[in-house]
Amino acid sequence: MDESAIYEAGRVLAGGGLVAFPTETVYGLGANGLDEEAAIRIYAAKGRPSDNPLILHIASMEELDILAAEIPVEARILADAFWPGPLTMIFKKTARVPYGTTGGLDTVAVRMPSHPVAREIIRAAGVPIAAPSANLSGRPSPTKALHVLEDLDGRIDMIVDGGTVGIGLESTIIDMSEGRPMILRPGYIAKEALAPLIGEPEVDVAILGEAADARPKAPGMKYRHYAPKAEMTVFLGNPTDVCGAIEEALFRAAAQGKRAGVLCTEESERFYDAPVKKCAGRRNEPESVARSLYDVLRAFDRDQVDCIFSESFDDSPLSGAIMNRLLKAAGYRTVKCGRR
Ligand code: AMP
Ligand code: MG
Repeated sequence: MDESAIYEAGRVLAGGGLVAFPTETVYGLGANGLDEEAAIRIYAAKGRPSDNPLILHIASMEELDILAAEIPVEARILADAFWPGPLTMIFKKTARVPYGTTGGLDTVAVRMPSHPVAREIIRAAGVPIAAPSANLSGRPSPTKALHVLEDLDGRIDMIVDGGTVGIGLESTIIDMSEGRPMILRPGYIAKEALAPLIGEPEVDVAILGEAADARPKAPGMKYRHYAPKAEMTVFLGNPTDVCGAIEEALFRAAAQGKRAGVLCTEESERFYDAPVKKCAGRRNEPESVARSLYDVLRAFDRDQVDCIFSESFDDSPLSGAIMNRLLKAAGYRTVKCGRR
């Protein structure tokens, strides 16, 4: 780790500047979370709607007391089990947290990341760090420093390059601020991992994408997100049926003179005859799919395809998080394949 870069990042953050840095989930765009002006700069740099609250990142449990007015016992249990790590918890906020970082809400989202560079930068800044994903609003989240540069070059003060991130999808968000815990965004930590510790959490119906007009409790989840420029369709069903249906779609696209891309896996790539094919890892290794998904979505933009046909992933504990991001990227455009 480059000590002088960490020191410099801490200095820029403490002075109200913007620094992008790696976390274990995706790259974050950091600012002093207790400084309203600094938070406003984040919204401006990302083009993020101001009602979409920021997650505050801490490096020690003492910092949680500065931010959270009430810490339920279930939250302490989850912190013991999953912090530092890819879990964000929502609490009632203290007066120290400016409304400018919470999108006007009386609650605050807090996470303690495990990435050593993120932890050192938060320590060096000496304040909780507000850090949404370091992408332009609506674009796929960055999983490497180059993605941050693509989106935010010239708009922020500094990027700390820590290589490619380990997880590749944003944190699980769970609301601990009112009675029964509720999952507001699926992530690497699945519901099945939380249930043995605090009982079965509720799940915000809006994230399932089934209730079309349900208003999500995490304001950010209502926005189109993670989206490549081309129209994307997710093919649902078992891998064999999906493969057949995508081959047909490719044939039709070619007949219409459209340049089509397929989002597939290393296992299925050889089955497709397509102008552009991109593998999101290996199907039998869901972690590899999570890690490469956003990179692949960005890569389709560079290849200038007219449409993207994507396989689906519903056979592992990570599926909830992966499918949530894929369906959002596709604007919920799906095709059901095979006989059901
Ligand atoms: P990002 O950091 O860009 O991945 O987005 C942060 C996510 O956390 C968004 O979906 C926000 O809506 C959500 N979030 C942050 N603070 C709160 C809060 N106080 N209540 C509910 N959701 C929140
Ligand atoms: Mg984001």
